[in-house]
Amino acid sequence: MKMETTIHGLTASLSPAKHAKKLIGFVPTMGNLHEGHLNLVREAKKICDLVVVSIFVNPTQFGPNEDFDSYPRTLEQDSHLLADVGCDIIFAPAVEQMFAKAPRKTNIQVTDITDGLCGHARPGHFDGVALIVTKLFNIVQPNYAFFGQKDFQQLVVVQQLVRDLNMPLEVIGVPTTRAEDGLALSSRNGYLTSEERNKAPQIYASLQHAKGALEQGELLTSVLEDMRSHLQAHGFEIDYVEARTPELQTITDFNQDIVLFVAAKLGKTRLIDNLIVHFAT
Ligand code: AMP
Repeated sequence: MKMETTIHGLTASLSPAKHAKKLIGFVPTMGNLHEGHLNLVREAKKICDLVVVSIFVNPTQFGPNEDFDSYPRTLEQDSHLLADVGCDIIFAPAVEQMFAKAPRKTNIQVTDITDGLCGHARPGHFDGVALIVTKLFNIVQPNYAFFGQKDFQQLVVVQQLVRDLNMPLEVIGVPTTRAEDGLALSSRNGYLTSEERNKAPQIYASLQHAKGALEQGELLTSVLEDMRSHLQAHGFEIDYVEARTPELQTITDFNQDIVLFVAAKLGKTRLIDNLIVHFAT
């Protein structure tokens, strides 16, 4: 496994594979890797000849009062984990490598589907994601890119971006990896106190309960209300509990699949999760 920290170095490392027309898979991450990230790499290894994993804490996707400075940076540990799952190249650039000193005059904005959910709570977040993903895709030029369904809105935004700009790659969504108690794995879970960690699985429990209730024919509005009450009773501060179509549109027809979304804070830690309820016939 190679580690590259410059765009030039990465391009040189990828060049033989590109000339040999090898299939390149790409997994963008912010590091502090866990099994969720590693499962993206495992999926990439199944269909690609060579897998690149980027580790870059992207400043443009953090708001002014968010955790950019304190976000865990664990490159050495991450590189051992990646070697074990067969990653071929780690791309770990410094901020200065990705954002040169000359002022940038280009923005990438995906509209409409970024208005609600996390886009509402985190203004500018998806502009930052769209920008870094576009830059990384241009640098790596992969055939396939792998994103987690845990960040469902991000996955849909990236799929839209790739479609709208005719980017020559396929985006693959990978199911959420969970702890045994159901909590979706996240680098931010490390911020939880042990008391908060014990409460955190209630998010997935409420999603599963809601799925069951919807399948039994309960009304969506009351199911969402029950989720809110349940989470509040367990000490969560709710950011949103919502249902959307898999394309992130509001639900008008109940013969299609529904995605239930939760974002809620436990203390200072903001957690997100989602669950798909299949109704489409
Ligand atoms: P991050 O490092 O948090 O930016 O995540 C990098 C990639 O890993 C994104 O595509 C995430 O959706 C994905 N990811 C993070 N946590 C999980 C998880 N628990 N299961 C599946 N994918 C995940």
